[in-house]
Amino acid sequence: MSACVEYRLDEQDRIVSVGGGWDDFARANDGAHLCGQALLGSSFWDHVTGESLSQLLGLIFRQVRERGEPITVPSRCDSPEIVRHLEVRIQPLPDHYLEIQSCINSETPRTQWRGGDRVRMLLQMCSWCNRFHVEDQWLEIEEAIERLRLADADFIPRSSHGICPDCADLLKQSA
Ligand SMILES: [Zn+2]
Repeated sequence: MSACVEYRLDEQDRIVSVGGGWDDFARANDGAHLCGQALLGSSFWDHVTGESLSQLLGLIFRQVRERGEPITVPSRCDSPEIVRHLEVRIQPLPDHYLEIQSCINSETPRTQWRGGDRVRMLLQMCSWCNRFHVEDQWLEIEEAIERLRLADADFIPRSSHGICPDCADLLKQSA
């Protein structure tokens, strides 16, 4: 698997090209925000979950286009088995095109996922850092499992997407 994927958006945020290890990467993921499967010609925004995340990314895109300078932000793109830390670089191109490059900084296998019957829960997940909202705190999935005493069950987070306050601050500062 390539460590980076990149794609370009036209001035209306339609995906006009994808490169790097895109296919492998998309196959290994489930379509979450910046890293899912995308179709050429589709709008970038069709692949972004959550209104607050869309607003913040929209802000960042505008800043990159207006200032003509790239912005790099850390992100997460987990699959059920792997914790994946990314760095996402949004770079201006001529004619208000953007190039977005997601590079994997680290990948760590999860240890707490098991087979068998799966417990489905609806929790709010931050679309940016992949943490879960449990009892007024934003927790990594391992902590959430422990908190909810689900260690003996397999746990599929059925998430309603949002954005946590930490990430909202981070993205606002970037923009
Ligand atoms: Zn977050």
